[in-house]
Amino acid sequence: MQAKQNIGVNSSDTTVLIVGAGPVGLSAAFALSKMNIDVQVIDSGLDVDSRMRASTFHPPTLDMIEELGVLDELLAEGLKVPVWRMRQHESGESVAFDLGLLGDATSHPYRLQIEQHRYCSLLVNALAKRGVVVEFGVQAVDAQQDDSGVTLTLDGLDRRRADWLIGADGASSQIRKSQNLDYGGKTYTHSSVLLATPFQFDQYLEDVSGVTYCWSGRGPFSLLGLKSLWRASLYPGVKDLSSAAEEERVREWLEFIHPAAADAEISDVNPYKVHERCVDTFRVGRVLLAGDAAHLNPPNGGMGMNGGIHDAMSLTKALQSVLAGEDEALLDRYSRQRRYVISQRLIPQASANRARMATLDIELQLERLAEQRRLADDPKRCRDFLLKSSMISGLREAEAIE
Ligand SMILES: Cc1cc2nc3c(=O)[nH]c(=O)nc-3n(C[C@H](O)[C@H](O)[C@H](O)COP(=O)(O)OP(=O)(O)OC[C@H]3O[C@@H](n4cnc5c(N)ncnc54)[C@H](O)[C@@H]3O)c2cc1C
Repeated sequence: MQAKQNIGVNSSDTTVLIVGAGPVGLSAAFALSKMNIDVQVIDSGLDVDSRMRASTFHPPTLDMIEELGVLDELLAEGLKVPVWRMRQHESGESVAFDLGLLGDATSHPYRLQIEQHRYCSLLVNALAKRGVVVEFGVQAVDAQQDDSGVTLTLDGLDRRRADWLIGADGASSQIRKSQNLDYGGKTYTHSSVLLATPFQFDQYLEDVSGVTYCWSGRGPFSLLGLKSLWRASLYPGVKDLSSAAEEERVREWLEFIHPAAADAEISDVNPYKVHERCVDTFRVGRVLLAGDAAHLNPPNGGMGMNGGIHDAMSLTKALQSVLAGEDEALLDRYSRQRRYVISQRLIPQASANRARMATLDIELQLERLAEQRRLADDPKRCRDFLLKSSMISGLREAEAIE
């Protein structure tokens, strides 16, 4: 779809313009398209961002993707993990958490392991089939609004006009900046590293499932299975990104995890900084924010992308009602509900997960593992815990917020 250029401020190109074709912008676009709402999507990248990022889809996210109608294709490419684990590396002791306990709370009582870029590509194709062609290579530089709509200035100074604008343009969001929203919070000192390898950790280590969070005397790490590859998430305790990703350092870690992994093929390495941030509001008039543009959290527990997809589903339902004539206050409710979940549930949970794993004291790790075992052995407490860690209770609490 070609951009209309230098249009007058009162005629809209589209009802909803989405900036950002990541998992959040594309989920919103597909939901709106299925509601028969006119939508356009632009992205500054030349294609879907295929860098290694999220790989876990939690049960309620899978319920939402089923509602979108694209779950079967995702399931075909992903790895179902019905039981995830916490494990102490040196002792090999572990505790299993069975998502089957959530069978009455979700239609998908498992985590689906699949790279986020596969979900994005699937949505780009599904949108094209509905006549919405995602416009790559188009960068937003500024957004200004008036009573009737939003004018988006693009790189090259072309403009685009929409009734509503969704900023799903990631952590450095230009749309958030254009609305002068503060992005307060913190950045953790130490860098983290995600690596991908065909080395099959579960064939060399006992009691490892497709999602296994590990304590060790050297530091925490996670082992995450995909259909053919594995990922290891490491916390090497260094500040800058390039030294965190040095091959020698990464190989020492692999050898520590299992000697046979020392020479394993490493197909990808992605060092990254961890943040905790949330905007004060997800709505400024006709400009709405979702996903990393509005909030960031530590990756522990795999909730960032999931939370963003939850934003997209909640926002599009509110927009649908507003476009059907209901009060715009529904969009403020969207902001209140999602801000509550992110700031009171998602960020504190991810940060507590990170803190719980941080100790290097093996005795303390074993004590914490024993606590987790007592929790897993108590069906009621375990179910409550799984409702929280699978992001279901936060969604339920948000529903009650007016
Ligand atoms: C290493 C790593 C591991 C992670 N693991 C997990 C996990 O296991 N589970 C989980 O839930 N989350 C995880 N996350 C978080 C997850 O990747 C993000 O939360 C998710 O990508 C957010 O999606 P988004 O669509 O909001 O933003 P993004 O995916 O960042 O997409 C934003 C899009 O906007 C485009 N864009 C940016 N600026 C502009 C502009 N000015 N004009 C036009 N387009 C623009 C970009 O090109 C990009 O395509 C991880 C993140 C990292 C870095």
